[in-house]
Amino acid sequence: MRAKEPFVRLHSIAPIPLENTPSAHKAGFVSIIGKPNAGKSTLLNALLESKLSIVSPKAQTTRHRILGFDNGDDYQIIYSDTPGIILPKYRLHEHMMGFVNNAVRDSDVMVLLVAANETFPEDLLFPLAEKVKGPKILAINKSDKVGKEVMEARRNELASRIAFSDVIELCALKGTNVPELRQLILKHLPENPPFYDKEALSDRPERFFVSEIIREKIFLLLSDELPYSCEVEILTFDETTNKMGEPLARINANIHVERLTQKEILIGKGASMVKRIGTAARLDIEKFLDMKVFLELFVKVSPDWKANNNYLRSFGYK
Ligand code: GDP
Ligand code: MG
Repeated sequence: MRAKEPFVRLHSIAPIPLENTPSAHKAGFVSIIGKPNAGKSTLLNALLESKLSIVSPKAQTTRHRILGFDNGDDYQIIYSDTPGIILPKYRLHEHMMGFVNNAVRDSDVMVLLVAANETFPEDLLFPLAEKVKGPKILAINKSDKVGKEVMEARRNELASRIAFSDVIELCALKGTNVPELRQLILKHLPENPPFYDKEALSDRPERFFVSEIIREKIFLLLSDELPYSCEVEILTFDETTNKMGEPLARINANIHVERLTQKEILIGKGASMVKRIGTAARLDIEKFLDMKVFLELFVKVSPDWKANNNYLRSFGYK
């Protein structure tokens, strides 16, 4: 069910025909809310059949609110992927939770995503879910990880806490029940004209996704805490042509770290680490932009950027 190529530019997926409402157009905001690692970004990518949101096994990979559009002739579903719900520990976290609250406030339909294989109480989730007046869909992800009995218990426990309009079991990773979830969302979507251009896939510019792709490689290639200290800033993004007249994007980016020791690790012996990050990122950016890419990465120490409002503002956490 997922597209073969992980990245697709202006990708359109098979539209769902709206039943019995030939003239009405549906449009609305759908937020995907849940704890870190529940699979929110994986689900968004599966729903859109394209890779819009970065995914890693580490918690809190997603830092921004990202809108992704599913456009049909007579509907527009506007999804927002959000950072996982956490208690803020530093200023970056406060900004991340601000994005979550905005997503909840704006949503017409909420998808509350929980992992089936986790047992901890969803204490931070429920107060947020209660703020939503519209339909709330409980989606229990990672159905591949548990047996029937555990799934049943998780389902009963969660459904006893809040009145959900629907409950669905999913495996976002394999795409199981993802089309069914899309149908449920569409059923609840209010009648509205489209909010965004029907040709677009997201409200974010391409350079945002380019920085996210680089950040994903940092998360995948570096261990422990280091990725959490990194932020990527696109310095230049120029679309030109190479000698053969083929389109080429020249991209320069800074990777900001908090301390000098982190810079050394990120660069690696003989610049081996930053080269690995650059190569992996370039290949994905080429797929995303559908053109050749010349990528240059610089590593820069921006002391304690996570606690500094000026840095945070310049990195887009408003
Ligand atoms: P987020 O923090 O909620 O956005 O979670 P991600 O989408 O980044 O996923 C966190 C981890 O869970 C990644 O390693 C995913 O591959 C994995 N994951 C997501 N969905 C599933 C699923 O249905 N089954 C399994 N086994 N793993 C999943
Ligand atoms: Mg995520």
